Amino acid sequence: MAVLSIKQAGEPVLRLKAEPVKKIDRTIHKLLDDMVATMDAAEGVGLAAPQVGVSLRVVVIDVGDGLLELINPELVHHEGAERGQEGCLSVTGYYGEVERYARVRVEALNRQGKRFQVTGEGLLARALQHEIDHLEGVLFTDKAITLTKATDKE
Ligand code: ZN
Repeated sequence: MAVLSIKQAGEPVLRLKAEPVKKIDRTIHKLLDDMVATMDAAEGVGLAAPQVGVSLRVVVIDVGDGLLELINPELVHHEGAERGQEGCLSVTGYYGEVERYARVRVEALNRQGKRFQVTGEGLLARALQHEIDHLEGVLFTDKAITLTKATDKE
């Protein structure tokens, strides 16, 4: 496993629509492993492949309830709306309030290529939507109602 460098806002790859994974092979397994290592090293709760410079629809999330690996994730259901604070490993030093669906269901493939669904609310719902946005070339700053620069004191 390798810790990869995280692309920062301004890098073109973060603005591309990522390509679906066609074949889940060793390259994808290594990508997932490296993304998990990178997310953990950065103490993030989620990471999308474009953030490590790979324009593929691959996401890892860990909000504290266990690791989720999602290949070709799709939002299949949503309910309600909720405002909450967000940050992003690709937009360091900024936080903002973003309105998201309160509850979501996402369908994806796991690393064995098996289709599964994950239902989430709260932080998990937020992380799922934030990471899927990355696959569309969207950053949270595009949607933020407020944007705050973190001070050195924080
Ligand atoms: Zn992000």
